Parts: sequence; structure tokens; C-alpha cells
Amino acid sequence: TQLVNQIAAGEVVERPSSVVKELVENCFDAGATSVAIEIEQGGMRRIKIRDDGCGIDKDDLPLALSRHATSKIATLDDLEHVSTMGFRGEALPSISSVARLTLISRTEAADCAWRVDADGSEQNFDPKPDPHPQGTTVDVRDLFYNTPARRKFLKTEKTEFGHIETLIKRMALSRFDIGFALTHNQREVLNLKPVTTEVQREQRIAGICGSEFIDNSVKIDFEASGLQLTGWVGLPTFSRSQQDMQFFYVNGRLIKDKLVSHAVKQAYQDVLYHGRHPVFVLYLNLDPALVDVNAHPAKLEVRFREGRLVHDFLYRALHRSLADLRP
Ligand code: ADP
Ligand code: MG
Repeated sequence: TQLVNQIAAGEVVERPSSVVKELVENCFDAGATSVAIEIEQGGMRRIKIRDDGCGIDKDDLPLALSRHATSKIATLDDLEHVSTMGFRGEALPSISSVARLTLISRTEAADCAWRVDADGSEQNFDPKPDPHPQGTTVDVRDLFYNTPARRKFLKTEKTEFGHIETLIKRMALSRFDIGFALTHNQREVLNLKPVTTEVQREQRIAGICGSEFIDNSVKIDFEASGLQLTGWVGLPTFSRSQQDMQFFYVNGRLIKDKLVSHAVKQAYQDVLYHGRHPVFVLYLNLDPALVDVNAHPAKLEVRFREGRLVHDFLYRALHRSLADLRP
């Protein structure tokens, strides 16, 4: 089963940022209001994530680490099934098969927190008491220490951390209700409080995209034919053009889409100078029946049922907002 976990991990634990993604999504599932992410050496040395969510019962701790570690997965067929299913119920067992993992958790009802250690081959699933407050900490050390072939594929510390930082920014722009703290090698990179007011919302945008973005952007709130577009688009005075400053969410989910890019680019070109690289944080909300989300969670693709309608709507919304603010 250790091997099965490792093979499953090969499919899903590609790099440190994939571990962070799974662990932070678990915090969301647990109803956390704040998530603290500590990274060391690009995540290769350590990924430590602490939340204030519902926690895990003592008796469920070993279960969380060994959900599919049963002899049921014995045939190649089963294995194929596991890998195509991706991470469902597989994240913690997969990660613990390629790293040293400690899970500490306390529920509201419990008298104290409990801790289990899973270290590749050494599994100690006998919970020990721990002084942790309510919520959960997952501490992942030495990723791929026992799979050198995979470790070889990792890039520099800076590159791996860059992936993590981008991921957390994307998440923070879709979950304003949750606080995020991110450190790298003990240095604070992001410190975002949960947002309740409009001012705080703009502060979060500034914290993620820089204050020059928020100072040089126009706010959009546009609705037509059942479609709604809100967010911010950078003005031409904001000259820092960065590919990674394009955030587009459909019903709360980050996507990359040709049709969307085209509509945005077209609106910019028609209103502002040519050749400028648009910078934006935009949220499109529409009837979920009008959009197909790619089944693979790692892919950012969508397909709109009425592409023309969406394209024209985006173009009109952006054209109007940008034109209003043309100097
Ligand atoms: P999945 O999220 O698909 O159920 P995981 O391997 O990611 O599978 O997690 C296994 C289980 O461990 C979850 O179903 C959940 O019950 C528990 N769990 C994991 N992380 C947390 C967390 N941060 N807070 C509370 N429960 C958690
Ligand atoms: Mg999960």
C-alpha cells in the first residue's frame, strides 16, 4: 500500500505548490476563518499549514492518513481508477508517502489536541496529546526525500516558492472571508486579514497586486442579460505589465480562457493605447448551467455555452468602464 500511495502521489503531488493547494483546500472544507502557511526552502524543506477550522476527532486522525491504504487497491485497474480520481480522499495519504508528515488537530469538544506522525515508512498512528488550540496543523517536511527521481524535477527554491505565492494570491482573491498569512524562510510575504468591509476588500487587493494597482485602476460593477461582472481593471497609468497580474474568476473559480482574454484585450485596445498588457482582477458570475467546468481540478479551462454572449458582455462592460475613465 505504501507503493500504491507513492504511485498515486506521483500523479498528484507534482511539486510543493500542489501540496499547499490540497492542504489549504482542506482548511476551507473545515470552515477555517484564517490559514497560516509557513514555507521553508521553497516548500522542499517544510510546508506547515495551520487553520482554526473544525478540527479532526482523535479517532479519525489515523483514518485521515490512511483512507485508501487498504488492500482493496490491489489491481492495476484499481490503481488507474485512483489516479484518474486524483486526490479525492487521497491527499494526506499520498503526501505522507513522499514526505514526513505530522498532523495535529483539536475539535471544539475535545479536552486537548492530538497528534499523529507519518514518516514515509514509519507510520505511528497512535495519537499523542498535544497543546495545539482548536483547529488543525499539517506539517510536511522533506518532500520527496524518499523519491529522489521526483526531487530531481524540482526547480530552484525561488521558483517553487513563486508557484506557492501565486497559488495563495489566487486563493486569497477568491476567498475574501478567510485570512491568509504566508511566510517564506521566516520572512512575512503576505498577511491578509479576513475582509468584511469594502475598504478592507481594497486593502486586500492592494496587498496582493500592490497599492499602485488599486490607485490606478477602475472599479467595475456591470450587469446585463443575467451576467454580472465586478472587479478592477488597471488603467494605462499603471504601467507595470505582468502576466501574473491577470485574475479572472468564473463563479468564484479562477480560469484562463481564450475567449475571455480576447474580449479583455479587445476592450483595452479599442479604448486605450495599443499593445498594452492588461492587468485585472475580475469576477464573472452567471448561471452555472451556462458554463462547463473542466472535470480536472488542476486545469483552469472552462467552456461557455453561449460564448458569443459572454464575449460581447465582457467587451461592453470593460469598454464602458475604461471609456468612462479615459483621461
Ligand atoms: P479529502 O479532502 O478528499 O476528504 P484528504 O486526504 O485531503 O481527503 O483529507 C482527508 C480527511 O482528513 C478529510 O476528509 C477531513 O475529514 C480531514 N482533514 C484534512 N485536513 C483537515 C483540516 N485542515 N481540518 C479538518 N479536517 C481535515
Ligand atoms: Mg482534501
